[in-house]
Amino acid sequence: MSTKLKKKELDKFKELLDEEKRKILRHLENLSESSEMELGETTAGGDEADIASLEISQKSLEKIGKRETYLLKKIDLALKKIEDGEYGLCENCGEPIGLPRLMARPVAQLCIDCKQEQENVERRFSNREVEVGEEDEVFGDDAEEAE
Ligand SMILES: [Zn+2]
Repeated sequence: MSTKLKKKELDKFKELLDEEKRKILRHLENLSESSEMELGETTAGGDEADIASLEISQKSLEKIGKRETYLLKKIDLALKKIEDGEYGLCENCGEPIGLPRLMARPVAQLCIDCKQEQENVERRFSNREVEVGEEDEVFGDDAEEAE
């Protein structure tokens, strides 16, 4: 079935991950710039509506920032694995994750079996949204383009 990734495939994923990383870094930069701007304006005006909207934007900023920082870490981890020749292997069972899954989620750390198992466990212990769901959200839409 699934075999280890070829050099050409690894290069492709490296490119993909590098590009995604640049995109996120640029986005985070823009976010912090616009946040500083808003902060300046609000201090000058100081009316309640402004403060309320500032709080909202700071909260969403934090949320976006947190998610992107999280993804950034996963991208770095994946890039390091490419360097070490471990990319594409499941962290739990050591089996190849498989090309189709990696195409859809280049930062995947687990094969689909282990991932499902992990999700089942997390669902059992917690009603909150599981953390692993975040990578699906961010990378999910790009899956089609990856071809
Ligand atoms: Zn596995």
